[in-house]
Amino acid sequence: MSEKKIPYKIYLEESEMPKQWYNMRADMKNKPAPLLNPKTLQPMTQEELSSVFCEELCRQELDENTAYFDIPEEIRDFYKMYRPSPLVRAYCLEEKLQTPAKIYYKFEGNNTSGSHKLNSAIAQAYYAKKQGLKGVTTETGAGQWGTALSMACAYFGLDCQVYMVKCSYEQKPFRREVMRTYGANVTPSPSNTTVVGRKILQEFPGTNGSLGCAISEAVEAAGAQTGYRYVLGSVLNQVLLHQTVIGLETKAAMDKYDIKPDVIIGCAGGGSNLGGLIAPFMGKQLRGEENYEFIAVEPATCPSLTRGKYVYDYCDTGKVCPLSKMYTLGSGYMPAGTHAGGLRYHGMNPILSQLYDDGYMKAVSVHQTEVFKAAQEFARVEGILPAPESSHAIKIAIDEAMKCKETGEEKTILFGLTGTGYFDMFAYARYNDGEMVDYNPTDEEIAKGLSGIPQIPQNGF
Ligand SMILES: *Cc1c(COP(=O)(O)O)cnc(C)c1O
Repeated sequence: MSEKKIPYKIYLEESEMPKQWYNMRADMKNKPAPLLNPKTLQPMTQEELSSVFCEELCRQELDENTAYFDIPEEIRDFYKMYRPSPLVRAYCLEEKLQTPAKIYYKFEGNNTSGSHKLNSAIAQAYYAKKQGLKGVTTETGAGQWGTALSMACAYFGLDCQVYMVKCSYEQKPFRREVMRTYGANVTPSPSNTTVVGRKILQEFPGTNGSLGCAISEAVEAAGAQTGYRYVLGSVLNQVLLHQTVIGLETKAAMDKYDIKPDVIIGCAGGGSNLGGLIAPFMGKQLRGEENYEFIAVEPATCPSLTRGKYVYDYCDTGKVCPLSKMYTLGSGYMPAGTHAGGLRYHGMNPILSQLYDDGYMKAVSVHQTEVFKAAQEFARVEGILPAPESSHAIKIAIDEAMKCKETGEEKTILFGLTGTGYFDMFAYARYNDGEMVDYNPTDEEIAKGLSGIPQIPQNGF
């Protein structure tokens, strides 16, 4: 470690910002399994995939050999409005914990959408625009992705249609208004604007909706309009690729001060922020140049890595998307109503799934009350009001720092602080009122979800 005093915030100059995204697959010996066409069970071709997603994004999705993709200048210009994001040395948290550990976090909540999702939203909107499309459709659960996409579409003059899970639409009216301010059309899902929505409404009148249902509506809406494609905010390899800007900036900032993290921690929903944060470090590990400890943190209520299976599964409840080999709880798995809305997806990104299966990464699950306790502790000393999702990483970072206190080890801990929690104040209120409870899914509930995994030959790819 150099003697240079490390500042509270390490910024990069504009000229030092990454000009390329990094594709971890290029350095993986065991590549993630290909996406399969749900009808033929054969690997999806570029052509088949292009009917759902934008062309360039399909290329990125399927490419497992190109290590670096240039970030187009238009996207870099947009990044400059809110990036580089700060890498913060958590001096105040270290002091509070009285730990010899050195703690750093990369803060992605410094933009209006309040999370890292804008990094991929702007890329996806750019490629849609470049392809000459009129607009895009998507779903949003907690609302962060819909907000990010609305901002990106406004910037490039694209129409943006968001299907927002009904209970979220009603509980988070401010998220909805942010999206509308950016010009997006927000529809509570299930709605009577689609065939699948009308069918669900007829079967389950008064339903609160679900992410799986909103995905099915968004995919249908894209297919029903010329010049529209469907876009997704996590899980896919293309999204993880865009999010590598997080890790690349972090590594560049750390290199300036000769800092090498020992432990790298991120919360895991669909896996894009975690994959993006660890990418350049994992690349070094895959090439045999360095060693790190990687930890994925997931909610106990949606434990795809720690209790799921590594198999081909549907990406959506409507079973319209390609099949993906991933750690999954089954597409019909219904997580209990916890407050980390952005971590409630049933599956995990295929690259991270393969890395986890190969033993490159650990995973732990945590309960929401301990997560909010960590969030509160963090907010009181570091100032930032963290998103519940991000607070999963905070919880484990604090645990690691406390272990160092016992052993006297001066480990360097890095974690991803993916966003702010201003729209999650109902959740904070429940915690503050002592009304928040923990829930551990029973083995039966997990088995029920897993029983929905398609009965197809699972080997051979
Ligand atoms: C969506 C979201 C997550 C989950 O991100 P993934 O990349 O899907 O794992 C985490 N934190 C915040 C603040 C989010 O909005």
